[in-house]
Amino acid sequence: MDASELLARLRAELSAALVPPACLACRAPLRDAAAELCVGCRRALPWLVAPRCERCGLPAPCGPRCPADGAAFERAWAPLAHDGSARELVAALKFRGALPVARLMAAQIAASAPSALLDGATLVPVPSHPARRRARGFDQAALIAAALAARSGLPVAACLRRRGAPTRQLGAGRAARRAAAARQLLRVVGAAPARALLVDDVHTTGATLDACARALRAAGVAHVAAVSYARTLPR
Ligand SMILES: [Zn+2]
Ligand SMILES: [Zn+2]
Repeated sequence: MDASELLARLRAELSAALVPPACLACRAPLRDAAAELCVGCRRALPWLVAPRCERCGLPAPCGPRCPADGAAFERAWAPLAHDGSARELVAALKFRGALPVARLMAAQIAASAPSALLDGATLVPVPSHPARRRARGFDQAALIAAALAARSGLPVAACLRRRGAPTRQLGAGRAARRAAAARQLLRVVGAAPARALLVDDVHTTGATLDACARALRAAGVAHVAAVSYARTLPR
């Protein structure tokens, strides 16, 4: 963490301590400071229920072809759909850097994650683009990973880095182009864990998670799975 990131975190901690209690999603005033969410936002949390596809995390059946078919991660899971108040919480973390949001997300992940996903894993946050991190002063996946580590006791290895600009892949399909671009941008720095659990805020197409998993596997990581706070559902 550099000085600007530290400053942003201190500022976020300080404002969280000073402002009157408000719903972390919609910012409506709260009577109970410990509630974190207003009644409406708590009710609007779109929990994903069983059965689920273990590979891609979508409600099962996930479709004629699993979107994670051929992905470098073994399984993916998220407690919530990227919708309703879960979507607002994702935005609150990304744009306001609200640390209590990261703690709430970690609590919701830890409370319902399959134990096979967490057992023996080392948390590896998906890195955001360096320019974006500099502008925001923090990395939202790293905040969730830190909060999840504090809650679960699992270690964190922030061993993934983004690099360079993507080269253009002329002629390839849009998804293939995006995956190839993401892959080129990631590398492992330092020691990689034997069992990695990627941590991100939102699992959308899975291309970024796949790129991260490929970089980890290339560095000798035997097992890679992914946990996100929210899963984008197909329309
Ligand atoms: Zn609310
Ligand atoms: Zn699937």
